Amino acid sequence: MRLLVRTGLCLVVLWFGLLGAGPVTEERGEAASELAQAGLASEMAAAATRPAAYQEEGAGSLIRADQLVDYSAEEAKTAAVKPTVYLTFDDGPSGKTKDVLAILKREGVKATFFMLGKEVKQYPDIARQVVKEGHAIGNHTYDHVYKELYSSFSAFAKQVMDTDDEIYKVTGVRTNLLRAPGGTFGNFDQGYYDALAKAGYIVNDWNVDSGDSARVGVPAKEIVSTVKGSRLSGKVVVLMHDSSIHGESVKALPEVIGYFKNKGYQFAVLTEQVKPIQFRLAPTLKWKRPKVTAQETQTLVQYTARTRTNLPELNTHSLIIHAGGDEIPFAPQDYKTLSGTIDVPLRQLAIGLHGIIRLDMANGVVEAMVNNQSVSWTAAEVGGSGTSLPSRIIVHLRETLQRFHFGISRITVTEGKREIWIGPSSL
Ligand SMILES: [Zn+2]
Repeated sequence: MRLLVRTGLCLVVLWFGLLGAGPVTEERGEAASELAQAGLASEMAAAATRPAAYQEEGAGSLIRADQLVDYSAEEAKTAAVKPTVYLTFDDGPSGKTKDVLAILKREGVKATFFMLGKEVKQYPDIARQVVKEGHAIGNHTYDHVYKELYSSFSAFAKQVMDTDDEIYKVTGVRTNLLRAPGGTFGNFDQGYYDALAKAGYIVNDWNVDSGDSARVGVPAKEIVSTVKGSRLSGKVVVLMHDSSIHGESVKALPEVIGYFKNKGYQFAVLTEQVKPIQFRLAPTLKWKRPKVTAQETQTLVQYTARTRTNLPELNTHSLIIHAGGDEIPFAPQDYKTLSGTIDVPLRQLAIGLHGIIRLDMANGVVEAMVNNQSVSWTAAEVGGSGTSLPSRIIVHLRETLQRFHFGISRITVTEGKREIWIGPSSL
């Protein structure tokens, strides 16, 4: 099945008491088939107690897409050719969003809508229309109440998850784009940034504020002149709003669009491949609160791992890792991709690289010895909890290869096949 039993492998497996903290046993060479049996048995036992094969898999820090491909260099090239403006609308959807959509359609422009969970719940049809018309959706938390969001990370994370679920329920989209209410400056500490990044969220601030929320009812002509007075660059992310009180933003929009068109900008939506604009950390926060805890981070990481990986049908490519003269094949259902990150079963990877895996079931630790590098993971880091290791141990490919002192030299994606060439990194 998933486990590769390869003959001629130099394989040593220390199997720490599969049924509890039993004595250490050591298996060599041909005992690989016993390992396979043990692996299959534990997988089958687990399969009987969970609805879907991928549900509990994957956790730990994500490797961002821009680490796989240097998108920023690509972006710079594009921006040099044609400057790009990303219009963003926060706090909707609302009745005003319909007017915004009509203007965008007329102008042939796409934009990004950072939505509040509670408004998505109230205006599901409008949220669906945003997606249907080709615009991007981002998460802007559930209710936008600063005091709650910035008093503890668990409160912030809860709102992010509730909004994520609401957007998915209504539109079928799982978005990793996120904008902090009020922006990150003075609101985020490094802990907020780190936890969200680990969970795979991409936090987007802006570099042109239209000023449409400076106070209630900022007149359209003031919004337009604020935009026109802003310093521009090759990549502009404009902050606007489409909540019910933002009729003036709607009035200003055609002129804002015309301004950027005249300056030769192209319009685009934010995606995971667009390097986000982020404010620098404020020297002092506006809020007093405890530090983000590992547990709070883990809760969010497990949430995204759970909600984004149970889609094996999306993966249509098989994966082949070329290591020296060896090929390590993974069937489409045996590995996962998420925003540029590739997750693979550790056992299959380690065995393919002629390594050793050791499961310490008593302490909930898995250790792999590959390329003379010993690397270990706690249960929580591989999708389990406490001392309970999951039946399939899934790890992030690039990060794991780095820890084994392997580097990726080439990645190709062709019809039906994703291939990665790796070799010892020059350390
Ligand atoms: Zn907002």
